[in-house]
Amino acid sequence: MSQELIIKKKKEKFAESPNFTEKSNYRPDGVNETGLAFVGHEISEDGKTMNQFLHYDQLYTIRHGWNSQFFKGLLEGKIWGTKCPKCGDTWVPIRSHCWNLDCDLQKTEWIEMPLTAKVHTWTIAGWSGRSSLKRLPIILVYAIIGDSKVAIANELHGIDPWDVEFGMPLRVVFKPKEQRIGAVTDFHFEPAEGWSPSAMNEEKRRIQTLVEPVYEWVKTIK
Ligand SMILES: [Zn+2]
Repeated sequence: MSQELIIKKKKEKFAESPNFTEKSNYRPDGVNETGLAFVGHEISEDGKTMNQFLHYDQLYTIRHGWNSQFFKGLLEGKIWGTKCPKCGDTWVPIRSHCWNLDCDLQKTEWIEMPLTAKVHTWTIAGWSGRSSLKRLPIILVYAIIGDSKVAIANELHGIDPWDVEFGMPLRVVFKPKEQRIGAVTDFHFEPAEGWSPSAMNEEKRRIQTLVEPVYEWVKTIK
């Protein structure tokens, strides 16, 4: 391909680039080294494309492309999933193409998911990166949102770690709008309204015994 033709093709390619008109910057004033943090995002004029800016030693751009709607949805307090028009399977985290082999990589469609979930599995973190130490112990659940075929990881709040149960009903709780950045940390899970833990038993007591020293240790962190 001639140099001229390459330049022409590149121009054509960039002519189709989204026009990013909505820009947010949340890098704290005067801070160059943020640690691992999202420092901004941009959304295209047609609302279809979102890029995020992640700082970790240097600035990274995360181009979400076709997946943008999921991250834009978080800003709006919505969970978007994808659904296969052929077999009806749905996914959160999203899949751009159906994973059902019989569907032959059928392109999926967007579907707004309910803000309800259930625990698939979970773990209790007694140690973490420095930024989260004071929040230990942290309950990390893999939860099924709606009737998704896959589970999404996030924190579970509002419950003692030893009271978590397989299949327990959850609700998705978003941060206040002004604090959202279009990342999965914009929401967490809490037990569904009306759910209450089962009575204390031997297994729960065993977990309680393991977790209590973590609470004690956290109190000593300066
Ligand atoms: Zn399918």
